[in-house]
Amino acid sequence: MAVESAVPIRLTGAAGRIDSSAIRDLLEVVDRGDVISLAGGLPAAETFPAAALADAFADIIATDPGALQYSTTEGFGPLRQWVAERHGAEQDQVLITHGSQQALDLVVRALVEPGATVVLADPAYVGALQVFRLAGARLAPVASDVDGLRVDAFADRLRAGARPALVYLVANFDNPTGATLSLQRRIVLAEMADHYGFVIVEDDPYGELRWAGDALPPMRSFTDRAVTLGTVSKIVCPGLRIGYSIAPRPLAEAMVVLKQALDLHTSTLSQRAIHRVVTTPGFMTSQVDRLRPLYRERCATLVDALRAELGDRFEFDPPQGGMFVWGRLADSIDTQELLPAAVEQGVAYVPGQAFAVEGDYRQSLRLSFATTPPEQLLEGVRRLERALTKLSPRGESR
Ligand code: PMP
Repeated sequence: MAVESAVPIRLTGAAGRIDSSAIRDLLEVVDRGDVISLAGGLPAAETFPAAALADAFADIIATDPGALQYSTTEGFGPLRQWVAERHGAEQDQVLITHGSQQALDLVVRALVEPGATVVLADPAYVGALQVFRLAGARLAPVASDVDGLRVDAFADRLRAGARPALVYLVANFDNPTGATLSLQRRIVLAEMADHYGFVIVEDDPYGELRWAGDALPPMRSFTDRAVTLGTVSKIVCPGLRIGYSIAPRPLAEAMVVLKQALDLHTSTLSQRAIHRVVTTPGFMTSQVDRLRPLYRERCATLVDALRAELGDRFEFDPPQGGMFVWGRLADSIDTQELLPAAVEQGVAYVPGQAFAVEGDYRQSLRLSFATTPPEQLLEGVRRLERALTKLSPRGESR
């Protein structure tokens, strides 16, 4: 039997600096069969190309001697080339990473010294907050609205002397707010990057999940000081952990060296299997053509149910793509306090405060429609209404 040591294990400051994601913790709590979870940002599993991947894995292992071998840090050449072509970039700008989450970590390691300033919208994606906190960055949140980051408010800060190392954006269908950065704001932000010398990190997992309105150009098309982070997680499947970055050259090279130190390279086999599937003629078009109407329908069901069941008790702007509806309860109800009542009724969501950088989002919440079929979305909203009425019968709270 091991002898218990009297000397406690001492953790680094970094290990103590970040909290476990409230969403991941919540997913464990609501992993009860009878709870309709509108909490996690999980893609619709029935769209994962399981059969095509099974064939690809089997065939690649049987026929490609390199498939089980170590490989280059930059990633599988043909997969990098596929990414480069889709994004109008050069192959040497592309690094294949373990999900886009790792790409963000690498950019931050390359650009953000401890204490350096990172600008981001408030509320923000929790996974990005964890990366910035781990790096010891100083977070400088900027308010956002239905058109994304309030670039005018950011401009005031720059004029007052703020000098961020980077600006982090989910410009298309933000997580959690669903907002998309307007064209005008993209142009102004790119000019500001050139003028003040910061780097824009555009994290774009949801851009292809647009079912209404026109696609807007990426930040890289307006300035050389922008990095795109991409992923197959939301359009193929997340479990293989294949993401990528497209970066200006000196930064791209630095990221390769950093990745070498972290994990040598992304799984050789997964990269080849994903490459095989996504380059199968017609695959990507049919995959995206399947996802868009599926999510459009689910989103519309959720939006209609919210309007019908909650009416003016819930304020929100329906998104034109992505996976989330973000809104605010009109009565003074703390969504964190409402959650146990909601789970008791059999529905879960993410309380807004989980995404807060500095702001107060205690009345907000995020609902994901991606994983849940329409009839369950309807039932989920009915359960939410019941929880709400139990906690705050209409008329008494006002
Ligand atoms: N960025 C954002 C904004 C996300 O919502 C997510 C997934 N929830 C990621 C990055 C992570 O994506 P990946 O699976 O490629 O690491």
